[in-house]
Amino acid sequence: MKKQSTNMEVKKNNRNYIFRYICKHGVVSNPDISYAVKMSLPTVTQNTKELIGRGLVEETGELESTGGRRAKGLTVAANAKLAVGLDITKNHIGLILTNLTGEILRYNRIFLPFSDGEDYYLTVNDRLEEFLDEVSADREKLLGLGISFPGIVDLDRELIVHSHILGVDSVPFASVSRFFAYPCYFLNDANAGAYAEGIRSESMERFFYISLSNTVGGALFDNDELIQGKGFRCGEVGHMTVVPDGAPCYCGKQGCLDAYCAAVYLSDAADGKLERFFAGLGRGEEAFCKVWDRYTDYLAIAVNNIHMILDCDIVLGGYVGSFARGHIQEIREKVSKRNTFAGDGAFIKSCNYKTGAAALGAALKVIELFIKEI
Ligand SMILES: [Zn+2]
Repeated sequence: MKKQSTNMEVKKNNRNYIFRYICKHGVVSNPDISYAVKMSLPTVTQNTKELIGRGLVEETGELESTGGRRAKGLTVAANAKLAVGLDITKNHIGLILTNLTGEILRYNRIFLPFSDGEDYYLTVNDRLEEFLDEVSADREKLLGLGISFPGIVDLDRELIVHSHILGVDSVPFASVSRFFAYPCYFLNDANAGAYAEGIRSESMERFFYISLSNTVGGALFDNDELIQGKGFRCGEVGHMTVVPDGAPCYCGKQGCLDAYCAAVYLSDAADGKLERFFAGLGRGEEAFCKVWDRYTDYLAIAVNNIHMILDCDIVLGGYVGSFARGHIQEIREKVSKRNTFAGDGAFIKSCNYKTGAAALGAALKVIELFIKEI
């Protein structure tokens, strides 16, 4: 019995590995795969045949020959399965449709203030169905809905334990998922952002993601997984103290990073528009430079402290992270001034996804759960 299940595991792992290879490499042939993944040609051929049979891989003519018989081209049937990501924030929802290769097929951000009640979720469901109609998405292909929620998400108890920003406590997943016609998967918003940055990246095995949005959060990504922590609170750096007894934080304490580095401290200086703030900063306008200088002073303390503990890359994400690319050098310099071990701060990176990272991460989680079971 044990031997049988082990054999099945091996078969599944092989199939999974082959499928991921095809996903990553566009058009490939059986001999290409065999060589790259170090499996025999008959094993690879048998697996790709099975994947073609299931409609997950397609044949795409013949590849250029380098002598001998021309090999058949194989590619992933990218749109054979789809997933939607829903990002719930205080004033908006974000919706993203993605496929097996993680391509963003459509992204919509809709103004919809959160309220804890049936009407809100019914409206979200209406917006979701409209969104799917707009893109003529085949519901049969939809694997599920990944939901990014700004709060502590307890995957063991299947419960949103707490969201300060939305003012809710102890929300069972089931009380949200019952409004939608698809299987639902929940993630914390910073975790979702980190997942989007990490899961399809070849270069990042381990990194810390700071989400600098209207609240500050963070997540630790390690070898294709998110580190959740004992109480699913790993990475909540928004509430690390950067100034003893400092400015009041929305959490009720004082001196938290959130009280200095929430995106709102920048956008407030520019009529509530973060784009306007960064445009002014780009032009070197004094008032904006002053605000940015203060902001990055505190951010540098946090980044240096996080790096001291983890010694890994730190990705600046969230709304501010998506604008900060042109200013990364200044931040690196401030951090390296604080760093005992010198260095040039090259471990600080800007995020790749400009918009919708949390919604995309939530959708990619659904895709990954499917691929793991192929
Ligand atoms: Zn706080």
